Amino acid sequence: MIIGVPKEIKAEEHRVGLTPESVSELTRAGHKVIVETNAGTGIEASDAHYEAAGASIVATADAVFEQAELIVKVKEPQAVECARLKPHHTLFTYLHLAADKPQAEALMKSGATCIAYETVTDRNGRLPLLMPMSQVAGRMATQAAAWALQRTIRGRGLLMGGVPGVAPAKVVILGGGVSGTHAAEMAIGMRADVTVFDRHMPRLAELDVQFAGALKTAYSTPASVEKAVAEADVVIGAVLIPGASAPKLITRDMLKTMKPGAVLVDIAIDQGGCFETSRPTTHSDPIFEVDGILHYCVANMPGAVPRTSTYALNNMTLPFTLAIAAKGAKKALNDDAHLAEGLNVADGFITYETVASDLGLSY
Ligand code: NAD
Repeated sequence: MIIGVPKEIKAEEHRVGLTPESVSELTRAGHKVIVETNAGTGIEASDAHYEAAGASIVATADAVFEQAELIVKVKEPQAVECARLKPHHTLFTYLHLAADKPQAEALMKSGATCIAYETVTDRNGRLPLLMPMSQVAGRMATQAAAWALQRTIRGRGLLMGGVPGVAPAKVVILGGGVSGTHAAEMAIGMRADVTVFDRHMPRLAELDVQFAGALKTAYSTPASVEKAVAEADVVIGAVLIPGASAPKLITRDMLKTMKPGAVLVDIAIDQGGCFETSRPTTHSDPIFEVDGILHYCVANMPGAVPRTSTYALNNMTLPFTLAIAAKGAKKALNDDAHLAEGLNVADGFITYETVASDLGLSY
């Protein structure tokens, strides 16, 4: 099969659909890979790296879409990319269609087969192609908090891990799922005083065993969160209720009880945020202050570390890319119920029930 990798064109996006290593595996399997020139600049993969892996470099995105059958990307297609899609194309990328009617309509109009990373499942019902980005965001959340705690950034002037004779920062993590656990790992590594809140008792039990006393666990109720937040130097919001907007666990009134210069990191901002005072920010202007409390609410945290994020994503997507390339989309989807969960648009229709109902479109 001919596989195409266009350069990502969304603002502040530096990841790329396939690494040179993934290209190498596809070309060794007998497929042809076409990469747009400079597509890998953000991960320091040059055209020469891709050529060494067996790819052909083309000058324009138009050439990629004209020649390739399977298009592998990272971000949802922008309008100009949707216009290039034809019925014979299979698109494999993040789509996040439920809140994006113009994109959904453009993909339906294209007639292409569109498989969304974020709805592919595994045998435990988890979302394996979303997981690597939650891992990255969780680990970054702790880095961002440690940075923001510095007085020069208007934080409390605390070193995350303290030093001998001086106490470390108190870090409260709301949500002990993928991102919360990775945030906790980094905070423990920095020697912070870490407490993870969750409402799912089996998860708290797993964390208790996994970290063997290196963190505290707490059952999340409005009262327990309110008390912990007042004493915290850092609060990391990492909750998710699948398919719903994030619950607001910290109200504006609660900010008044917090220590001035304390830091809130809202990983869940892409689901509306779990603090009442959150609003999305960008890597170029990541922090704002409300009532003396710093808020870091970057909606695409993995975009700042494109090398790590692209490789983490490819580690999970490559087996599916290989299957689609080997069998063709139709047979690959028929053979693998988990990949089939990723199918969002086909033959001009939305094929994912909740996306269709959220958009008020037929299914
Ligand atoms: P996850 O499902 O692995 O974990 C969420 C956890 O929150 C679960 O353990 C759940 O029990 C817990 N939870 C639910 N309600 C709670 C409550 N009231 N109190 C405490 N815990 C509660 O989810 P995840 O993969 O860690 O993702 C978390 C959020 O981060 C999602 O909104 C995801 O979209 C977002 N995310 C953001 C970025 C970014 O760049 N900002 C990147 C990746 C993921």
